[in-house]
Amino acid sequence: MNKQLVNVDLQEIGRFNTLAHNWWESKGEFRTLHHINPIRMKYICSHSCLVGKKALDVGCGGGLLTESLAKLGSEVTGIDLGYDLLTVARLHALESGLGIDYQQISVEDLASEKSQSFDIITCLEMLEHVPDPAGIIHACAQLLKPGGIFFFSTLNRTLKGYLFGVVGAEYIGRIIPKGTHDYKRFILPSELESWCRLEHLNIEEFIGLHYNPINQTCWLNSDISVNYIGYAIKS
Ligand code: SAH
Repeated sequence: MNKQLVNVDLQEIGRFNTLAHNWWESKGEFRTLHHINPIRMKYICSHSCLVGKKALDVGCGGGLLTESLAKLGSEVTGIDLGYDLLTVARLHALESGLGIDYQQISVEDLASEKSQSFDIITCLEMLEHVPDPAGIIHACAQLLKPGGIFFFSTLNRTLKGYLFGVVGAEYIGRIIPKGTHDYKRFILPSELESWCRLEHLNIEEFIGLHYNPINQTCWLNSDISVNYIGYAIKS
C-alpha cells in the first residue's frame, strides 16, 4: 500500500472504483474508453515499438490500455489507486492469459523505488483527475530511462473543452457518467508543455483526439481544443 497519498483526490478514485465491475463492459459507463482505445493504440504504436519494452501505464483503471500494451509485446506494469479497479484488471488479465504486474501504488512512490526503469510510460485520461498533474509528470520523468517516451492524453481547458467534454459528454450525450470531469482541472497544452520541459521531457507532438458518440467513430487531427493526445521524449 502507499506510503503517502498526497497527490490524489480520493473522491475521484472512489467514483471510478464504484464502477469498476463495468470496466470491461463495452456498452457500459466506460464505453467511450473502449471506442477510443484502438486509435490511441495505433497512435502509440506509430511512435514506438512495443516489443520487449518495459512499459508503465499510470492510472490504468481496469486495464483496457494496459492489456493492449501487453498484447503487443511489452512487459507491462499498471498502477492505479482504486483497489476494485485493480482487482478487475488482475482478473481480466488472468482470463486473457496476460502477465501484467498490477500494483496499487502512487506514481510518486513507484518513482522512489524504480527510478529510470521504463522505456515507455502511458498516462492517458488521468492527469485531469489529480490535484497536481505537474507532480505526476515529475514522477513519470524520474521513472523513464533516458530516451524513454512519455505518452499523455487529457482535456483542454477551453470553452469548447467544457462544452464537449462536460456539457455534451456528461449531460446531453450521457456518454460518460455525470461528475466524471471537473473543468477547472482541464489542462492547457502550454501548461503541459512547460511541466514537461522542466523535467527534460521534450514534447514531440500534440494532436487532437476526436470522438463522435453517434456513430462511435474516432479520428485524430490538428484541432486540440477538446481532447488531445501526444508524446514527449526524455533527453
Ligand atoms: N488510463 C485509463 C483510465 C482513465 S480513467 C484509460 O485511459 O483507459 C482515470 C483513472 O485514473 C482511474 O482509473 C483513476 O482511478 C485513476 N487515477 C486518478 N487519480 C490517480 C492517482 N493519483 N494515481 C493513480 N491513478 C489515479
